Amino acid sequence: MTTTVPFLDLAAVHLDLRDDLDVAWKEVLAHGRFIGGPEVAAFEAAFAAHCEVAHCAGVANGTDALELILAGLGIGPGDEVIVPANTFVATVEAVRTAGARPRFVDVRPDTLLADPAAVAAAITPRTAAIVAVHLFGQMADVDALGKLASRHGLALIEDAAQAHGARYQGRRAGSWGAAAAFSFYPGKNLGALGDGGAAVSDDAQLIDRIRLLADHGRSVDDRFVHEVSGRNSRLDTLQAAALRVKLAHLDRMNEARVALVERYRRGLPSWCVPVAVDPAADPVYHLAVVQVPDRPTVTSALDAAGIGWGLHYPVPCHRQPAFAEYADGPLPVVEEAAGRILSLPLSPGMAPEQVDLVCEVLHDVPI
Ligand SMILES: *Cc1c(COP(=O)(O)O)cnc(C)c1O
Repeated sequence: MTTTVPFLDLAAVHLDLRDDLDVAWKEVLAHGRFIGGPEVAAFEAAFAAHCEVAHCAGVANGTDALELILAGLGIGPGDEVIVPANTFVATVEAVRTAGARPRFVDVRPDTLLADPAAVAAAITPRTAAIVAVHLFGQMADVDALGKLASRHGLALIEDAAQAHGARYQGRRAGSWGAAAAFSFYPGKNLGALGDGGAAVSDDAQLIDRIRLLADHGRSVDDRFVHEVSGRNSRLDTLQAAALRVKLAHLDRMNEARVALVERYRRGLPSWCVPVAVDPAADPVYHLAVVQVPDRPTVTSALDAAGIGWGLHYPVPCHRQPAFAEYADGPLPVVEEAAGRILSLPLSPGMAPEQVDLVCEVLHDVPI
């Protein structure tokens, strides 16, 4: 079966940017500073401004960004970190790699994002941080989560890997927590031409500490002195150069995503229920997620029509073998949703007619 509507069309995204990307990489090739070149600081400043925060440190990927934020905040062995069970495993891996213990909580049935009441109930004397995961491009209820965090003296950390440019109560993703982690994995709303990530914060000392840890603990005053045992997690100059080009198009591409999802909402059959939008949120739709009955029948119909689809995420984190030791109870909302969620095709360059085609195929599914 030939593909009629791909799940994600990255080639189309880059076709438009080809000339600008060519110039950017030739500039890097000419100066040869492949690590720590001027494009890195330029991108960091531009991305911090886009997130409406003071500081940004580019790192190797989004998972490292989360882990370095935890480490930079001094969170590690003996600490618990509250994580919604509905997230990509990377959120949990970062907590584990930092040495802390993930504490899974359930999500709201409408948005499938962290349920503040469940978070409140999971706080113990060992809790050090709450991770607000902004899944599918929509921000979690950072107002409620931030108030909980400050009432209990905890750090609010944003996992904004799927939410570049999203807002809550008018404020950007990345500007609510003690710090936020972004991923520039190619398929994300802002994607590099390979791996990349960033930590953003208004806290200059925290960002300095993250920079130090991410560059072998190297002293900023003397490059031969290593103050702590750090690691290597840097944003490559070439990736920063590409990201600078693509950042200039992020808002436009996010607007295209919003228009496409609105079109889905108008055209989908009634049994195909899009994830709800919190009235305080302005999502940027990393994914077009719906909930459906009898998913195997639906995906067979999509396959037969050559339409791409995805599942984010069919196995909640507390049900993953890797994290079995942290599963301390059923989480009914996320478990129920896991069998019903379905991600429909969505790319910023997708034609409206492609959305209509997906909707037509879905209308013909015998449900
Ligand atoms: C992509 C993603 C990450 C990890 O980012 P990488 O750059 O792939 O390491 C973390 N959290 C969420 C929610 C993600 O979608």
